[in-house]
Amino acid sequence: MNMTDVNPLLDFTGLPRFAGIKTEHIGPAVDLLLTENRARIEGLTRPGTPATWADFVAPLEDANEKLARAWGVVGHLHGVLDSPELRSAYNANQPKIVQYYTELGQNLNLFEKYKALKLSPEFAALTPAQCKIVDNEIRDFRLSGAELSPEKKRRFAAISEELARLATKFSENLLDATNAFALYIEDRGQLGGIPEDVIETARAAADKEGKPGWKFSLHAPSYLPFMQYAEQRDLREKMYQAYVTRASEFGKPELDNTPLITQILRLHHEAAQLLGYANHAEVSLVPKMARTPEQVLDFLNDLAAKALPFARKDYAELGEFAAAELSLAQLEAWDLAYASEKLRAARYAFSDQEVKQYFPEAKVMQGMFRLVETIFGVRIQPDQAEAWDPTVRFFRVSGAQGNLVGQFYLDPYSRDTKRGGAWMDEAISRRRLGERVQTPVAYLTCNFSAPVGAKPALFTHDEVLTLFHEFGHGLHHLLTRVDYVGVSGIHGVEWDAVELPSQFMENFCWEWEVLAHMTAHVDSGAALPRALFDKMLAAKNFQSGMQTVRQLEFSLFDMHLHYDFDVAGSNTPQQLLDEIRSRVAVAIPPAYNRFQNNFSHIFAGGYGAGYYSYKWAEVLSADAYGLFEENGVVDSRSGKRFCD
Ligand SMILES: [Zn+2]
Repeated sequence: MNMTDVNPLLDFTGLPRFAGIKTEHIGPAVDLLLTENRARIEGLTRPGTPATWADFVAPLEDANEKLARAWGVVGHLHGVLDSPELRSAYNANQPKIVQYYTELGQNLNLFEKYKALKLSPEFAALTPAQCKIVDNEIRDFRLSGAELSPEKKRRFAAISEELARLATKFSENLLDATNAFALYIEDRGQLGGIPEDVIETARAAADKEGKPGWKFSLHAPSYLPFMQYAEQRDLREKMYQAYVTRASEFGKPELDNTPLITQILRLHHEAAQLLGYANHAEVSLVPKMARTPEQVLDFLNDLAAKALPFARKDYAELGEFAAAELSLAQLEAWDLAYASEKLRAARYAFSDQEVKQYFPEAKVMQGMFRLVETIFGVRIQPDQAEAWDPTVRFFRVSGAQGNLVGQFYLDPYSRDTKRGGAWMDEAISRRRLGERVQTPVAYLTCNFSAPVGAKPALFTHDEVLTLFHEFGHGLHHLLTRVDYVGVSGIHGVEWDAVELPSQFMENFCWEWEVLAHMTAHVDSGAALPRALFDKMLAAKNFQSGMQTVRQLEFSLFDMHLHYDFDVAGSNTPQQLLDEIRSRVAVAIPPAYNRFQNNFSHIFAGGYGAGYYSYKWAEVLSADAYGLFEENGVVDSRSGKRFCD
């Protein structure tokens, strides 16, 4: 009896064997694969072993693919079927996996082998996909300092560690500062305008501390509705001021992020120079689609010039409305969310409940599948597979000749064993194995409400957007034609382009021509009325000018900070931010605003010199979609071009 008979996690011949996988299979499978892989790597890097595709890259990819597939199944189950036993098995094995990948990234013998292959005559004969894999590996080793002298390598490692520590401290300070403030209200009369459920939560929060009245905090579920709905203007101002001065010099000195920002910027700069780049922005762009910081800045400034007139119009409209209807002669920073919510309700109100009645699950799925079939020339049909829950469905995607292109699981409903949100993940990636092609398999996971009683599940329009978004990621993985696992499907995609296919798919949810065919009122069967659709469209575009310039302000600040801001000079990040605001913002916040002290994305979240990616991918997807707008939205020629 061999191992695969007893441990289904080690069976790589087909789809994951969900019916047979048990928690006790996890540890032994991980241990066995790690031992095998380490032995394999040891053999591949022994002096004198050939640095060729067939004898080096292919066996290494084989080994790593097995581990990724087995651990991928465990990670997937951890996300969708979390039980105490599974969680403890996951947590017990995860450090071993992390340790393995850290070793891999630091194994300079592997780096030498990749470089030798790159310099060998064989390299010229490799396919573009193979070359890209070799280049990506060399790039990643270099960016982690593999080519530095021993002395510089030590300094680089010390900087990396210090940056990790500072990032953690930055978010801890922010969290502690967020928790350090609360607004206690004892007079019910001061709660005017706030929705009842928010009031109840505030009551429970005060009660928990044995206090009378209501407690409002700076955490989003409390802060955001307070700013949107509280009629008491002086209290909005108080909350706003506390929120935008978190982790700054206006609070506890030990929670002030100001010195951390300076240190983070200086260390990133030093690390960039060690690697031979002029600044951190250049390093950040190496694995991205944008080539140079100048290109990103041109892109952002160009977008700002286009968006500003719309943002000014939005802001003027809001100011007029606030003066006329809300007696707010001068709009202050703490009025924006409040006045916007009132304006939105007055102009574009419709209820999600009303819209939902037109989006029963089966009709939406049918509509989405038909759209994808028409545009991309594929067929999507129900298929059979073992799954982890009875509500999970399985589908096959076939090509024009009936050939299997890929398969996917769809796990639509919320469960208390499932992590929140929606995501797409890979189960199997496409690759060529001799004569045979291993076709890709994807997981699509959502958290929609399950059907109640005899009624079908009904989706809000937001949920339909989510479904299309995730299916866009899924198509990226499933429709790949690349034969090598390192760059097939979603592997190796530049991260400022990752959201292109997903945001692209969202566009179709705003097309009358498409929606008319995927709606049917749950009781009457009638399609979505045009008048309701027009209201949805107007609400979608509400204040999009203002929102765009705000995103651009953040992106420009981030890029300049890591590009041409003098980290050793006398100018402060605040001065840079003020200068950018004077160019692209329509609502200038009060002088005490310290937005940068809570900009965790770039100081603690790995988005440094990468915040522009959101807009970059959005513009790419809009650009691609432009072709469909020109040729008719449901057009297979445009679909083929997009795929190619
Ligand atoms: Zn996405």
